[in-house]
Amino acid sequence: MAEKPPLVLHICCAPDEAWVVHTLRDRYNLTCFFCNPNIAPEQEYRLRAREAGLVAAHYLVPYAEDDYLPDSWECAVADAAETPEGGERCRRCFTLRLSRTAAFCCARSLPAFTTVMSVSPHKSIRLLNECGQAVAAAWNLTWMPFDFKKQDGFRKSTVLSSELGLYRQDYCGCRLSKEERNQRTAARLLSLAP
Ligand code: SF4
Repeated sequence: MAEKPPLVLHICCAPDEAWVVHTLRDRYNLTCFFCNPNIAPEQEYRLRAREAGLVAAHYLVPYAEDDYLPDSWECAVADAAETPEGGERCRRCFTLRLSRTAAFCCARSLPAFTTVMSVSPHKSIRLLNECGQAVAAAWNLTWMPFDFKKQDGFRKSTVLSSELGLYRQDYCGCRLSKEERNQRTAARLLSLAP
């Protein structure tokens, strides 16, 4: 049987990781790389990282975690902090995390990478691919433009993460997305008030 090609997965959270590893493990020689300086507060970061490590262990996939460098995220988005989720702030956030993933690939002579973030229906596949392709070109690597939400991927991922008993966060990750989540919740509660 032909050897499986290597593929590095940028991991943002355990539920997305589980679905993608479950989907690709028979076709690729996977390595999981948890790289998320965007996540705040640190307690939330540690929780998501711990769960991601458990998923990799469950599927017997090599796993590495980047250093937690929240200042790098603050610098990257500094003059785009006022832009809404899905805009320039997220472009910079994706580019930062994928660039560090590319550096991880180069340090280990692994030629191709992608991200599990496309499981989420909240992430623009166009933006993810633009960022991934630009980073890959800069590092002379191959970006694999998967869209893991296709073929009912998002719903199936929720079923799998529930079966595995994984923690599922209710905001994207950064402090700004947490504030936006809080504002949405408050607005919803207000709209229900008599
Ligand atoms: S909303 Fe999500 S993708 Fe956008 S900047 Fe925040 S953590 Fe990054």
